[in-house]
Amino acid sequence: MDNPLLQRDFPIPFDRIRADHVRPAVDALLAESRAAVDAIGAASGPRTFDDTLGALERATERLEHAMRVIGHLEQVATTPELREAYNEAQPRVSELMAGIPLDEPLWRAIERYAGSDEARALTGPKARLLRKTVAEFKRRGADLPPAEKKRLAAIDVELATLTLKFAQNTLDSTNAWELVIDDEPRLRGLPDSARAAARESAAKKGKAGWRFTLQAPSWAPVLTHLDDAAIREQVYRAQVSRATAAPWDNRPIVARVLALRAEKARLVGYRDFADLVLEERMARTAARARAFVDDLFARTEAFFARETAELQAFRRELEGPGAPPLAPWDVAYYAEKLRQARYRFDEEQLRPYFAFERVLAGAFEIARRIYGVRFEPWPEAPVWHESVRAFKVVDEREGAWIAGIYVDPYPREEKHGGAWMDGILARGQGEADRRHAGVLAANVTPPVGGKDAALAHADVETVFHELGHLMHHCLSRAALRSQAGTRVAWDFVELPSQILENWCWERESLDLFARHEDGGEAIPEAMLDALRRSRTFRAASAQMRQLGFALADLSLHTEYDPARDGDPVAFARRAMERTSPAPLPPEHAMIASFDHLFADPVGYAAGYYSYKWAEVLDADTFTRFRREGLLSPAVGMAFRREVLERGDEDDPAELFRRFMGRDPELGPLLERLGLSG
Ligand SMILES: [Zn+2]
Repeated sequence: MDNPLLQRDFPIPFDRIRADHVRPAVDALLAESRAAVDAIGAASGPRTFDDTLGALERATERLEHAMRVIGHLEQVATTPELREAYNEAQPRVSELMAGIPLDEPLWRAIERYAGSDEARALTGPKARLLRKTVAEFKRRGADLPPAEKKRLAAIDVELATLTLKFAQNTLDSTNAWELVIDDEPRLRGLPDSARAAARESAAKKGKAGWRFTLQAPSWAPVLTHLDDAAIREQVYRAQVSRATAAPWDNRPIVARVLALRAEKARLVGYRDFADLVLEERMARTAARARAFVDDLFARTEAFFARETAELQAFRRELEGPGAPPLAPWDVAYYAEKLRQARYRFDEEQLRPYFAFERVLAGAFEIARRIYGVRFEPWPEAPVWHESVRAFKVVDEREGAWIAGIYVDPYPREEKHGGAWMDGILARGQGEADRRHAGVLAANVTPPVGGKDAALAHADVETVFHELGHLMHHCLSRAALRSQAGTRVAWDFVELPSQILENWCWERESLDLFARHEDGGEAIPEAMLDALRRSRTFRAASAQMRQLGFALADLSLHTEYDPARDGDPVAFARRAMERTSPAPLPPEHAMIASFDHLFADPVGYAAGYYSYKWAEVLDADTFTRFRREGLLSPAVGMAFRREVLERGDEDDPAELFRRFMGRDPELGPLLERLGLSG
């Protein structure tokens, strides 16, 4: 059978791939990968880079490529058959991948090579790959005696099972809750769109009235706008106590997962789980991540106290001196009232300036100016749906066609929600001429009556964000596949994406594309000014909230001791309490539904700080553009050369230093948020 999944072709033949290709392709590629891994361990004689690490890179290349293509199609063009085939293939592939660091002959071959003169003389990316591979194998238990290896494997299996159960409990308990209001006057304050959605939600369930759920699009407008405090309280309490009662009680799972993670870390020689996870991140150690969070906390605290006092005062202004202190279900509500009073600015007014096609063209144009790449329509590329458009990415410096990208902007039933970038094809070893392929997916409203969807400013940022990831992927010049593009440390990967968002806030760059859909005029000064000021509104409170999650996460994965600290849910609540504008109720059990930390064996565990870390990096990096020219090709090309093209060929801290000439500083982020001085 001519199976398109067996080739790493460019362009990818998306139009020819069917669900019944999956099983035979995965069978064949699993066998091929297995044999290739075995061959590395079986060879005798002196070992070289190419027949150990090089061979290991190649061993799973075709298998991983096929899985990425299948996974992509499952996200954008799923069918029951494709989903079934993918779900069947995935555990088999994971099993092979997870077994690689525990393959004894392979580990002996790598160790033998690592001790050779050739290995000791390595420099640059190859030396880095060797060091990281040896460390990774050790973290996975390659060096342990058989009994401990067995224990480690058992821990991994239990973690995988428990974290999956955690995610299902969160989902099920979220879906199990509803609040139906049949008394319309009680909906006062709620915007029409939220009212209509609640009406529809009730109708779908065959109920009269308005139905609210614990999905964010339903509960968020209630807490932000609804006048009736009793309803807000009810929704808030349900929201923060999800997954804390049978049959979906996640609290015992949290305790068990923490214990297993701690045991795992100690088995492979680390003080705690955070040190284990962070070793290859930019932060390197739990202590440095913690110091970062504490520092940001200390610099935000006074602004946070001021914002909280101001909100309380605003409530007294509205309701008189006897107004009660703010409860947690009051904060978003009064904050929204204060925002309206202070800015009288409705972000909806900006939408006509952000027609989707203009935004996309604007993002391409800015990438052209700073990174020197041109996007040319590529109509002959095979795609998975007629609304998908393909573009060639051409390097203007050399005139070379370096990548093919696919823009898939509109929702479809068979497509996941949200926006994302998927780097489907990256150049491998010895493939200097190969092109990268990547996808920019979004879910914007399709044109109605010939009129293009008008985006909210936040969606404009999302388009720029995902194009930033795509540039990281497409501009990679790394010779080794495992160091290409976005395969960098977790706390570094958002720098190339977040940096591009900055061009959505500057007059000079906005004027290139943000034009009114009717008259074509640029955004009026007063409107842009209001948008900029709204960025700093209650910024300390937003930052404290993130820091609270980061503090709880790091504390749970470093200092938490069940014998001394008792219930981990209460322990985490105490950590978050320091960053909440109102005292948290005793049933607050946010971590019982905190999927970031517990829905995956690793996920964001010990890594929640990365959100703020990446913001610090992008705000700091942007200062060089601001200083030397927002659209300066010289600065853009320097960023491209020192960061985007390098992928993981060097330590991210070193890449950063080469572009900025120094280590990252917190100042620019604090300034951007109005939290300095
Ligand atoms: Zn991102």
